[in-house]
Amino acid sequence: MIALERPLSLEHRELRGGEFWRAIPKFRDVDEATFLDWVWQGRNSVKTADELIETIKDLAPPAFIEDARAGFAQAPMAVRVSPYMLSLIDWSDPHRDPIRRQFIPLRSALRPDHPRLTLDSLHEQKDAPVPGLTHRYGDKALFIALQTCPVYCRFCTRSYAIGPDTGDVEKVHLTTPAEWQRIFDYIASRPELEDIVISGGDAYQLPAKSIALIGEALLAIPHVRRMRVATKGPAVMPMKLLTDDAWVGALTKVVAEGRRLGKEVAVHTHFNHPSEITQITQRAMQRLFEAGVYVRNQSVLIRGVNDDERTMALLVKRLSYVNVHPYYVYMHDLVKGVEDLRTSIGRAIEIEKYVRGSTAGFNTPTFVCDAPGGGGKRDVHSFEYYDRENGIAVYTAPSVKPGKYFLYFDPIQDLESPAQARWADPRAVETMIDSALERAGAQPGEAVEA
Ligand SMILES: *Cc1c(COP(=O)(O)O)cnc(C)c1O
Ligand code: SF4
Repeated sequence: MIALERPLSLEHRELRGGEFWRAIPKFRDVDEATFLDWVWQGRNSVKTADELIETIKDLAPPAFIEDARAGFAQAPMAVRVSPYMLSLIDWSDPHRDPIRRQFIPLRSALRPDHPRLTLDSLHEQKDAPVPGLTHRYGDKALFIALQTCPVYCRFCTRSYAIGPDTGDVEKVHLTTPAEWQRIFDYIASRPELEDIVISGGDAYQLPAKSIALIGEALLAIPHVRRMRVATKGPAVMPMKLLTDDAWVGALTKVVAEGRRLGKEVAVHTHFNHPSEITQITQRAMQRLFEAGVYVRNQSVLIRGVNDDERTMALLVKRLSYVNVHPYYVYMHDLVKGVEDLRTSIGRAIEIEKYVRGSTAGFNTPTFVCDAPGGGGKRDVHSFEYYDRENGIAVYTAPSVKPGKYFLYFDPIQDLESPAQARWADPRAVETMIDSALERAGAQPGEAVEA
């Protein structure tokens, strides 16, 4: 058990302010107006090891720089870190820092991939009736409008498609604006579709005119009742909401037009750690709040970032404090090259138990596992069977893929050594999986998606 020495205090209200970026050598002379300029943030984002060194100079120990250089070279995901994020990293201890862990790969952290990992583990492409639209659930669909983001997360589920090619992964092409019309036509042809997620990539990267175009096209479809604009932007570059008036204007116009039509248009964002929320975030969220834009948050449960009770509870309270609604905490998907970041279903359940009760029920996120193989999101607690010893959870999804079974695997590094040895033996692996399925109630030969 984790020792929880003191109850959560008022720490969630202590938001970082001041010109904290000036601690970074390259930003020493940057004034507030410049730091808040979203164009400046984009231009000064770090994409290579050399740019990292040029920005932080001797803030980090040389051993860290070498480790990062090797990490950049091997990562399946491209690197891009905003000056805002770089300024929030504790450079006296970058190995352990929760923001560094999310964005800057280190060779020393590399772990072998799980043997059951595949590149598009959620089958987003298999469930796509037209390129760029995943229609898995009855009434809702996921529109992947673009393939770039203001920052790149090491753990991205869509590392098969998002960002520029890396040495390891040649990215799948999804859509360009010229191809969106096919997607709108498909949505219009499916009267059951009420809810569209506009994602990517990241909607922050869409020009204001594309936000307006997509918003208008979807609002014009009578059966579309709800839309969510998905962007990690508020977490990684909140100042864009203070200085990109064209983008904010396009968004608030779509929201207001939706409200006039009785349709909800919300923003879904992605904060993972309480220190990502500063006074700049608070100002940015206040601008959206005043404009009547509802913001929900979807976190990923990440080892060394937010996989402890206090950090997660603090994140939830701090989000609530700036009027961001904590909606989901996801199990980390089985993604190539980031096995050091995953945690187990068992840990998720323990953390959830602590978070629930720490604040309002409507601000308490649901902990979900997006079932590999396309089962969709499942409440982590709802497994049919969970073999904790071997780290195998079996889920079903009766309204999504009736009659099918879905497997999620805990990271092998967390298991006791006899279980680790079984995972190294392909015949033992088959036996473990068959036995978990049998205990979950699957009949021999019943379909398993993987
Ligand atoms: C997550 C997701 C959605 C939205 O699901 P909610 O549970 O309503 O947030 C829709 N389509 C796909 C393919 C998704 O992955
Ligand atoms: S912002 Fe979202 S889509 Fe972009 S890299 Fe991060 S997780 Fe992937």
